Amino acid sequence: MGVIINFHEVKDQVWLENNLCFLKERYNPVDLPELINSYNGKKELKSICHITVDDGSKSFYDNIYPVLKKHKIPASIYVSPEIAINQGNFWFQEINGYEKQKLLKVFYEVTQINEKNINKISIGDVMKFLKIDQIWEIINRYKELYKPEDKGCMNMSVNELKEVEQSGLVTIGAHTLRHPILANEEMSVAKNEIASSITSLADMLGHEIKYFAYPNGIPDFDFGQREMDILKENGCESAFATDSGDLSLQTNLLRIPRYGLSNGDSISYTRLKIFSGSLWNTIVKIKPGNELVDRRALLKIFTE
Ligand SMILES: [Zn+2]
Repeated sequence: MGVIINFHEVKDQVWLENNLCFLKERYNPVDLPELINSYNGKKELKSICHITVDDGSKSFYDNIYPVLKKHKIPASIYVSPEIAINQGNFWFQEINGYEKQKLLKVFYEVTQINEKNINKISIGDVMKFLKIDQIWEIINRYKELYKPEDKGCMNMSVNELKEVEQSGLVTIGAHTLRHPILANEEMSVAKNEIASSITSLADMLGHEIKYFAYPNGIPDFDFGQREMDILKENGCESAFATDSGDLSLQTNLLRIPRYGLSNGDSISYTRLKIFSGSLWNTIVKIKPGNELVDRRALLKIFTE
């Protein structure tokens, strides 16, 4: 069995270093091609681990990449070529810091959904109920009305992506163009988000792109068989989800589970999470404030 770790934004290099050292003591860190080769060659997957980082934020370049280099630990990152080329932000980066009540007001206006119970749910999770075009309509209207401070670009540039790739430590995969919840989208949008992110990233980096991570990544919630089929049609070899579990020879390579670690999680939390394996998915379902709990409650509100 192999262990795949997932990071997003990392602010604290010391925290990251502690977690990576903990992993390195117990597992052999491998790069993504080696991980896939071991799986395909039915080689022993025991005690290997692979580090993944989603979104390609500047914090990868500033905080994660230096620690990976210091410890010679390979990783794969999942980015949007559109964001890198246009030096833009993802929708969840844009709404971070927006005032919830104001954002909800615009949400009600745009969606015509006026349901007071939504108030109890985190605004990020509320937005995950929508199509990406609607999310941006809400953000653009909020910007017009309330003129929030310009955040600047929070993500890596094309040159920075090329630089980390050339180090030989980092493999780059696709992560759609605009980070939609793919399952919410019409077939044509889901196809375009996946296929164009792969081809445009390939053009940008000058080689084939064979790896992908689903935005938000909860299996059968954020993506399903349809997305896995689209990836297969586009020559994708492996795709990562965000549920917990080990990589075994029984794992479907188009929905590989990962252990997500975020800023401040203690080593004992990391240990417990990995030790729990796929059981962790059941543990979080009963944890209050958990995203799945919130989003299921929201579904109930909307469908009742
Ligand atoms: Zn993401």
